[in-house]
Amino acid sequence: MVYIVYIFLFVFGMVFGSFFHVLNTRGPKNESIITPGSYCTYCKHPLAWSDLIPLLSYLFNRGRCRYCKHKISFEYFVVELFTGLLFCLAYYLYGPSFSYDFFVCLLLFALCINIYISDFKYYIILDSPLVVTSVLIFGLKFVFFGPKASLLAVVSGLVLFGFMFLVRIIGNYMFKRESLGGGDIKLAFVIGVILGLRLGLCALILSTFLALPYAFLNTTLAQKKEVPFGPFIISACALVYVFMPKFVDLLNYLFI
Ligand SMILES: [Zn+2]
Repeated sequence: MVYIVYIFLFVFGMVFGSFFHVLNTRGPKNESIITPGSYCTYCKHPLAWSDLIPLLSYLFNRGRCRYCKHKISFEYFVVELFTGLLFCLAYYLYGPSFSYDFFVCLLLFALCINIYISDFKYYIILDSPLVVTSVLIFGLKFVFFGPKASLLAVVSGLVLFGFMFLVRIIGNYMFKRESLGGGDIKLAFVIGVILGLRLGLCALILSTFLALPYAFLNTTLAQKKEVPFGPFIISACALVYVFMPKFVDLLNYLFI
């Protein structure tokens, strides 16, 4: 029985991964995600349903377009595979019952994939995944814990949003340029909704440590000026969520 759930989640995850890829590669370019339907980005040939089966189409066509034989980016394959695996991981961590933690973990992993694609590629975080995630988590809090908990989550989100907004103002003043993107600040709201105030702050602090080595390499070796911060914020959030008891212990230890 449990294997059926894993297979279902893997397929479900791959289908969503495929959708996230379209959303986060077309969205930043202001292209519609509905029309035109999927097409080869090289020869523009429309793709048939048989070209769109996650993982399998890529493998059967050996990573090439069926029409022009141009190599298709390995990114499609990786995104579909990882979304499928992460959805299974959520069930492994929080199953076998479909609990609050399981659904939140699923949403959190989905948001990770969305932000990795758009922020690493285009230095942007789309509003739609942030809005959908916030609304769904608000709804889950409401259903599982009642109106007070859901309101508290929104307040925590607003406080973290305000905190990051302040960091941005100070950063812009100190570095005389854009220090934090608007997407990062909006993302802080979602982190507050998911983790609450104390753990949310913990995640934001952890994210700077995660981003440091990448920022260092990116600015020194690759000579790039911009560093996407969103992937590190959402990764830190996922780490704090999955290892929550350890972070709660740490906070209690530090503040007693
Ligand atoms: Zn083609």
